[in-house]
Amino acid sequence: MAETQRVDVVVIGAGAAGMLCAALAGQRGRRVALLEHGEQPGRKILISGGGRCNFTNLDCAPDRFLSENPHFAKSALAQFTQHHFVEMVRRHGIAFHEKTLGQLFCDGSARAMVAMLLTECERGGVEVVLGVRGIRVEPASSGFRVESERGAMIADTVVVATGGLSIPKLGATGFGYEVARQYGLPVIPPRPGLVPLTLADGEWRKLAGISAQVTAWAEGSRVRFAEKLLVTHRGVSGPAILQTSSYWQAGQAVCVDFVNGERLLAAMDTRRDEHALRETLRRTMPQRLADFLTGRLRPQRWTNTALAEVEARLHAFRLEPSGSEGYEKAEVTVGGVDTRALDSRTMEARTAPGLFFIGEVVDVTGHLGGFNFQWAWSSAAACARAL
Ligand SMILES: Cc1cc2nc3c(=O)[nH]c(=O)nc-3n(C[C@H](O)[C@H](O)[C@H](O)COP(=O)(O)OP(=O)(O)OC[C@H]3O[C@@H](n4cnc5c(N)ncnc54)[C@H](O)[C@@H]3O)c2cc1C
Repeated sequence: MAETQRVDVVVIGAGAAGMLCAALAGQRGRRVALLEHGEQPGRKILISGGGRCNFTNLDCAPDRFLSENPHFAKSALAQFTQHHFVEMVRRHGIAFHEKTLGQLFCDGSARAMVAMLLTECERGGVEVVLGVRGIRVEPASSGFRVESERGAMIADTVVVATGGLSIPKLGATGFGYEVARQYGLPVIPPRPGLVPLTLADGEWRKLAGISAQVTAWAEGSRVRFAEKLLVTHRGVSGPAILQTSSYWQAGQAVCVDFVNGERLLAAMDTRRDEHALRETLRRTMPQRLADFLTGRLRPQRWTNTALAEVEARLHAFRLEPSGSEGYEKAEVTVGGVDTRALDSRTMEARTAPGLFFIGEVVDVTGHLGGFNFQWAWSSAAACARAL
């Protein structure tokens, strides 16, 4: 990087969103520099999906995202869909498969995905600069001055693609939020999402390792997830809980339907006692969980009213998380740059022309299953079109 270099676009953060945006802007003829403070690009891509990267979801739709403004993501998702990204993956000859529920994974290593994005950057003549520490963005007489330990760059446009706070050891920082605040843009307070929840009730830990098919939701939320729950040494996890965690706020309960809407206790008509309850539950869930729930739910008297109460609690069992396992374990960060401050077609800040925010740094968070990468691709492409 030369002393004071002039480029059209500086993209900060070589993750999923930053690499695609830089590549597409470069291919549109823009002179682009992509700055990354880590020594390696796309570190989250490399570890995602157990090393095989769940890079999109065939069933991607706006209702699979959370945001203070649920309409915000629509434009970008429509401009660059899951099918556009799949087309790029095919063009690069990367083999993939649908695992379940529309989730697309690489057949081989996620390294192929990073290699694809770097090849696209090369095609766009992007200057990829790694290990750039101490980046600062300042207004210049026209556009922006991007300072770092490596020197300065002057650019008409700055794209902030530095992600959220999840997994600090992979390079996550609050840089994007700081730039937003510096330019007077509001930030929805970030919190960990897609994260295991902790339980103070030590009795649950005795069930660590047990998993069950449940329906879970955060108290007060209408969004429900029929997936697996896993009991851990610290609390609960598994897809049903990870999904629910994105909607959960500290102090709320998480509700779990352990019998997925099935009217279970009618089966106990002939015999009504603890043994019958245990046996009935054992038919639908792992034995140890059935025994545990029997202990928690057994009424003092086996009246019709008491049984109706047991049934009701089975359908909405309240877990009271003491917290979450935090950013060290969170797959995403919920919250971020307030979408009201951004143009939904381009991701440009309304009050700071030339400044764009894309990917996870924005207050748009996907469900589990490839939606977060699709948001990174869609917001990146929408932005690149405007550069
Ligand atoms: C373990 C794990 C598994 C996941 N698996 C999946 C999956 O299978 N499917 C899916 O859809 N989503 C998955 N996700 C979520 C997905 O990885 C993210 O939503 C996505 O990577 C966000 O892309 P991004 O480009 O916005 O941010 P990031 O990928 O986080 O990239 C941000 C980049 O900015 C850099 N950066 C940060 N601060 C600075 C700074 N101050 N200066 C310079 N550079 C900076 C970072 O080092 C990083 O390279 C997973 C996440 C984790 C943690």
